[in-house]
Amino acid sequence: MRAFTACLGSETNTFSPILCGRDAFEGNFYAPPGEHPDHPTLYSGPMMALRRRKKEGGSWDVVEGLSTFATTGGIVTRAVYEEYRDAILGQLRAAMPVDFVALGLHGAMVADGYEDCEGDLLRRVREIVGPKVKVGAELDLHCNLTTAMVEYADVLVPYKESPHIDVMERGEELVQILADAALGRTKPVMSVFDCRMVTSSPTTREPMKSYVARMKALEGKDGVLSVSLVHCFGFNDVPEMGYKVLVVTDDRKAEGDTLARRLGHEIYRMRRDIGMAFLTIDEAIDRALAAPKGPVVLADGADNAGGGAASDSTWFVRALQKRGVRDACVGPLWDPIAVRMCFAAGEGGVFQLRFGAKMNANSGEPIDAQVKVTRLVKDAWQTFGEARDPIGDAAAIEVDGIAIVLNSARDQAFGLDLFTNLGIDPTTKKIVVVKSHNHFFAAFSKIATEVHRTTAPGPLSLEYSKVPYKRLKRPIWPLDPDPLGLD
Ligand SMILES: [Zn+2]
Repeated sequence: MRAFTACLGSETNTFSPILCGRDAFEGNFYAPPGEHPDHPTLYSGPMMALRRRKKEGGSWDVVEGLSTFATTGGIVTRAVYEEYRDAILGQLRAAMPVDFVALGLHGAMVADGYEDCEGDLLRRVREIVGPKVKVGAELDLHCNLTTAMVEYADVLVPYKESPHIDVMERGEELVQILADAALGRTKPVMSVFDCRMVTSSPTTREPMKSYVARMKALEGKDGVLSVSLVHCFGFNDVPEMGYKVLVVTDDRKAEGDTLARRLGHEIYRMRRDIGMAFLTIDEAIDRALAAPKGPVVLADGADNAGGGAASDSTWFVRALQKRGVRDACVGPLWDPIAVRMCFAAGEGGVFQLRFGAKMNANSGEPIDAQVKVTRLVKDAWQTFGEARDPIGDAAAIEVDGIAIVLNSARDQAFGLDLFTNLGIDPTTKKIVVVKSHNHFFAAFSKIATEVHRTTAPGPLSLEYSKVPYKRLKRPIWPLDPDPLGLD
C-alpha cells in the first residue's frame, strides 16, 4: 500500500488584522518533506497514523510531503498559499502512482483570491490522481465544509471533540477508511446536512457530550463508517460557513442522507442550549476573589490567538493591577519586541519595559512597568493533547506580583506547561488567566477550582448576531430566528 501525506493549514479569521504571510507559517510550524518531528502536531494525525503502520511492518510505503501550518490569523497571502499548495502538488506528482492520499488540513483557510483553499487544493489533488485513487483529509472541527471539498474528496474526517483532544484518533480513523477503500473492501460516500446555524459549543459539557457519544455509537454498524458534526469557524466570512453534519457510509448514500438530516435536526433543536455564557473581566475577578480556594481559571476568549486575535491585549493585566491582585499568572501575551528586550536583560534582570497592546485599538493600552525577568526559554513550546505546540522564544516576567508569559510566536493557551516550562507553577496561584477561548479547558480544568469565561474588547466578540458578515449565505441562526422552520 503506497500513500502520500502532507499537512497545510490555517484557520482564517477574515476580520483579523493579522495578515498571514510566510512568517506566520514558518514561525509557527514548518517541516520540509520527511522532516516532520516524531511527536504529533495539530494537523499531522494522518501522517502519524501512517508512520505507525509503516513502523509496525506490512507492506507500507509512505511518501511524506510538506507540513506547515500557521496560528489562526487573517487572510493568507496569495503568494504563500500558492507556493505551499504547489509544493505539495509537485511532491504528490513525484510520488505517483499512489493508492491513496491522506492530508492533514484545517478546512477554514482563506487566501487572497481563494475563498475555499481546501476545496481548491483537493480539486487539484484529484486532477493529479484521477477518479480512482482515494483522497481524504482530516479536518479541524472548526472547518467550513464546502461543496467543493465534499466533491473532490472520497472521505473527510473532522475532529469530534472541542477542545481537540482526538487529533490522533481521527487521523487513525481516516487512514483506516482510506486503506480499506483502496483495497476495495469499502466504497465510502459522504452525506452532508447543512444545519443553517453558527455558535460555539464545547463538547466537554452537556448536551454536546452526549451528542458526541451518540455519533460515535452509530459508527461501525449498518454501513456507517464515520459520523461528525462540523462546528464551523464563525469568524470566517464565506458563503458556506455554518454547522453541518457529515456522515460517511459504505455506499449507502440514501441512508447516510437520512441519518445526517436526523442528526442535523437534533443539533438545530438544541442550538440555544449548546453555547457558552460569558462574564465581564471585573465580574470574573470578583468570582475568583470570592472563591475559597484557587486556582480559579479565567479565560480571555476575546483575545484568543486561536480565533485570530492578536493575543496581546492588556485589559486583564490592567484589571488585576488596578485591583491589587498579586497572586496571579497570565499567558500567553504576544509581544516579540518585549521578548527581545527580556533576552537582552537576561534572567534576573530588572528593568523598565513597555509591553502588550501593539496590534490594534481593541488590545487596549500598552503597559509600562518595572519588570523582573524570571525565566527565558528559546524555542519554547506547550503541549496540546499529545501534540507539542511551539510558542516561539518566551520570557516569564513578574510585574506587581503577577507572573506573565510573553512569547514571540502568537499562540493561545493549551497546556499547563505554557507556564511550568517558564518556571511558573499555576497550581499555586489564586488566579490563572489564559488567553484562549476553549482549548485551554482540557488541561486547565484539571487544576481549576472554578473556570469562568469572559468577554472583553477584541476582534472575537463571540456574539455572532453582531458580526458584520458580508459573504455569508442567509438565512442562518442567530442572525435569522428559525432558518429551518422547526421551531
Ligand atoms: Zn478548531
